[in-house]
Amino acid sequence: MAEDCLFCGIVAGSIPSETIDENERTVSFMDINPATAGHALVVPRVHSADLLEVGTEDLEATVLTAQRLAQRMKDVLDADGVNLINACGPAAWQTVFHFHIHVVPRFEDDPLKLPWVPEPGDPDEIAATAAKLRGDNG
Ligand code: AMP
Ligand code: ZN
Repeated sequence: MAEDCLFCGIVAGSIPSETIDENERTVSFMDINPATAGHALVVPRVHSADLLEVGTEDLEATVLTAQRLAQRMKDVLDADGVNLINACGPAAWQTVFHFHIHVVPRFEDDPLKLPWVPEPGDPDEIAATAAKLRGDNG
């Protein structure tokens, strides 16, 4: 448990939450600022700051719990779809530095919008970035 970590406090039960699922490795609870009705968060019990720090088994367990909740949201909330969202780093909108996955049920008439405008990119730039990511030339 990390001192002053909100989600460690929720896992420990010292900070109240609307818990919806628990297993050996993960705890899931409702987000207090829901993007849609049913917006939940899945966290590993063990503290890690973000996607780049979380251990493999906790990452796996968190994703599997998120999948289970997605199915439950379809079954119980009649969700039309589900978004899984992870923010890694402040530049990516992370505000709580205990790794978590948002599970956001989606409804045909909900107000959420794609946060970027899909437009064709410059093929040379895409290819150059792909080469960097593959590690070409070095
Ligand atoms: P992120 O911005 O991706 O790090 O997500 C953090 C999420 O935690 C936000 O969606 C907040 O609404 C949510 N949150 C903050 N405090 C609490 C809390 N006490 N209980 C439940 N969710 C919280
Ligand atoms: Zn923590």
